[in-house]
Amino acid sequence: MPLCIFCRNERELTEEHIVPDCIGGSLKPRLLCKECNSNLGSTIDGPFSNTVLVQLPRQSYQIPGKGGSVPNPFGAYGAITHEGRELSVRLDEQFKPYVKPMVTEQRTDQGLEISITIDKEDEGDIESILRKKITRYYRSLGMPDDDIQTKVAQAVQDAKKVAVPVSHQPTIKYLFSIDINVLVLESIKIAYEIAALEFGDMYVTGSPVAEALRCALRHQRRDEIAGGLGIDLGPLKAILPGQDAHYVLLLHNSCVVSIFGIASTIEYCGEQEAFARSIDDAVLYVFDPANRSHTKYLLANFLFQHANGKA
Ligand SMILES: [Zn+2]
Repeated sequence: MPLCIFCRNERELTEEHIVPDCIGGSLKPRLLCKECNSNLGSTIDGPFSNTVLVQLPRQSYQIPGKGGSVPNPFGAYGAITHEGRELSVRLDEQFKPYVKPMVTEQRTDQGLEISITIDKEDEGDIESILRKKITRYYRSLGMPDDDIQTKVAQAVQDAKKVAVPVSHQPTIKYLFSIDINVLVLESIKIAYEIAALEFGDMYVTGSPVAEALRCALRHQRRDEIAGGLGIDLGPLKAILPGQDAHYVLLLHNSCVVSIFGIASTIEYCGEQEAFARSIDDAVLYVFDPANRSHTKYLLANFLFQHANGKA
């Protein structure tokens, strides 16, 4: 029986998406036991796939998840202020705004004041809203039902006269928060798994850094790990894939992980030369999330092909 690269137990191994499935990662070697696979899925991949930095590009490049749906980070209601009123608006998949219905009523000396803010799509609901509110009001005053019907009909007529249709291009404010730890932990997971794939058991058991990466993932803490978000790749940056692709690069003792153009670097081995990759044998995985495919290159070959206009 093979060993799980995470818990080191002899177990049947399952397919693990090194780059998460939700962003089109197609590299899925058998590295982890079922339990470790599911634990990493819920503690590392899950929070990562929910972050807006992943959902926004998935929406903009239309990358569906396993279930076939593309996330809509604007599906929740955001707030707009229109003529001094706070409205709740959300956007559908085609960015068409929808106004959440808002009904207020106030009993005054003159009677009942009702204010309705409603999306054009729900215009047909105005009559039933008025009917419900007015009926309840006059019943509470002891009015017979026949008279109430007359009142309702009159109110519906009046409402049509005073209704103000509004059409404008609103600015909708959304507040998103991003936990950088979630992104870095995902990069740590990718760096560890790609190194385990490249160097096998030698790395998993023989590198103190490998142990530290496992520990960071187990406790979801990254403070002991060298590396982080945002790196300067120098002239390589112009050659490596852009925002619509992902890549994982093993160079020297670091793993560069770039997801939708957001790059981080994780030190995956220390000074052990057996696991470091020189510029000549550096390995580059390029992922095409739209087509769910990937290609592995020697960095040197990739650069050569690029220089010849093939990559
Ligand atoms: Zn395991």
